[in-house]
Amino acid sequence: MLSELVCFEPGCRARFPLDEVIYTCPQCGGLLEVAYSGDKPDPGSLKKIWRERRMNNSPLDQSGVWRYRELLPFDGNAAGVVTLREGNTPLVNGPRAAAYAGIDSLVFKHQGFNPTGSFKDNGMTCGATQALRVGMRRVACVSTGNTSASMAAYASAAGLQPVIFIPHGNISYGKLSQALEYGARTLQVEANFDQILALVRILAERLGIYLLNSINPFRIEGQKSIIIEMLDQRDWTPPDWIVLPGGNLGNTSAFGKALRELASLGFITRMPRLAVVQAEGAAPFWDLMQSADRAVLRPVENPKTLATAIRIGDPVSWKKALREVECSNGIVARASEQEIADAKAQIGLCGIGCEPASAATLAGIKKLVSAGVIRSGDDVVAVLTGNVLKDPDYIYRYHTGTLQTPAGAPIKPTFGNNPIVVPNDAGKIAELLAK
Ligand SMILES: *Cc1c(COP(=O)(O)O)cnc(C)c1O
Ligand SMILES: [Zn+2]
Repeated sequence: MLSELVCFEPGCRARFPLDEVIYTCPQCGGLLEVAYSGDKPDPGSLKKIWRERRMNNSPLDQSGVWRYRELLPFDGNAAGVVTLREGNTPLVNGPRAAAYAGIDSLVFKHQGFNPTGSFKDNGMTCGATQALRVGMRRVACVSTGNTSASMAAYASAAGLQPVIFIPHGNISYGKLSQALEYGARTLQVEANFDQILALVRILAERLGIYLLNSINPFRIEGQKSIIIEMLDQRDWTPPDWIVLPGGNLGNTSAFGKALRELASLGFITRMPRLAVVQAEGAAPFWDLMQSADRAVLRPVENPKTLATAIRIGDPVSWKKALREVECSNGIVARASEQEIADAKAQIGLCGIGCEPASAATLAGIKKLVSAGVIRSGDDVVAVLTGNVLKDPDYIYRYHTGTLQTPAGAPIKPTFGNNPIVVPNDAGKIAELLAK
C-alpha cells in the first residue's frame, strides 16, 4: 500500500509526503496521521506470511513489529530498520485476577516483555527508523519515563545521538537510569513540561534534531502492532474488550487505528470495544466523556497519581483517542490510587507483575464489571504496558504499608506481603512457617 501523512482535522485534511520532517500540520496545527491507499493486500495470504515469518531467523521477521510491515508506512522498503527484537510479547492467563475483577477469564497482553520493558519500544523502532530515513543525526524527547528509556536504546542502536529533556526535579530513577545507561545526553531544564516542549521545538528546528514525542505519527503506527500481534496470537478471533491505561492517549489512538484498518482490509469482521482507564488524579479524558460537549478537552492543571506513566494533565492525542473510543463503542473509566495499588498486587499474585500504570487496567475492569458494563462471560484482553521492575520503590512501600497517595493519605496494603524479621533459630522459624 502507498502511504502519506494527512492532517487529522476534518476541516483540513492537508496531505504531506512521508519524508517531510513535520510533527503537526503546518497549515492548521492539527495532529498528523498516516493514511494508506492503493492496492489492498489480501488478508488470507498476509496471515499466512506473517505466521511463517515467526519461523524465520532474520531480524526483521523476528521483530513483533516489522513482521507486520505490510501495515506500516514504509511502502515495502525495509532497508535500514532499527530493531531490538521488540514485540513478541506473550498473552498470559490471569485466573486469579479474573476472579478478583468478577469475570470468568482474563488474558493479559504483557508489553513489559519488550527490550526496554514497555510498549514504547513498539513505536520507537518505527520512530528511530524514520529518523534515519529522513537523514537526521540526533533525536530528542521530553520525558522522564519509558519514552526516554526506549528512545535512548533505539537511537543508540541506530547510531543516532539521543537527547532527553527533563523537568528539574520529579525524576523516576528506574526509567531515567535506563536512559543514562543507553547513552542519552540528559538535560535537566529549570522549567515545567510545557515550557520545555516549546524550547525543544525551537531547538529541533535550529539544530536539525528529530522529535520523538508522543505526537510522532510513526510511533503510533508502530504501536498498532500490539493489536495486530495480539489478534495473530488469537488466530484472528477478536476479544469483546481491549482494556488499556490512558495517559497521553497515543496508545489508545494506535489501538483504534489498528482495529479500523484491520476491519476495513477484512482481517476481522467484528470490532472489539476499547476500555481506557485513567487515574482519578489525572483523568481529563474521563471528564471529557462525562460532558455533553466533547469538542474541547479541559486539561487537569496539576495531575497527580503514583502511576507516573499516566500522570498527564493535557493529553496530546485526545482528539484521535476520542474518535477511536467512539468508533469502537468504547468506554473510559477511572480508578483511585487504592484501587490501582490493590489491582497491581493481584496481578503480582498471578505471577505476572507490572508497573503501576498497567494495573489501572484490572482496577478499571473490576469497576466496569460492578457497573454491569463488562459482563462476567465477556472475552477480555488487558494490556499491561510496563514491566514490574520499572518501579520497585512503589512495590516495597505497598507491601510494607508505607505507600501514600500524592495527597499524603495512606494506601492500605490490602494484599500486603511484609518481610518478616526472624531470629537465627530453626525451631522458631519452623514454628512460624507452620502457621
Ligand atoms: C506511556 C505509558 C502509558 C500511557 O500511554 P499513552 O499512550 O500515553 O496513553 C501507560 N503505561 C506505561 C507503562 C507507559 O509507559
Ligand atoms: Zn491541518
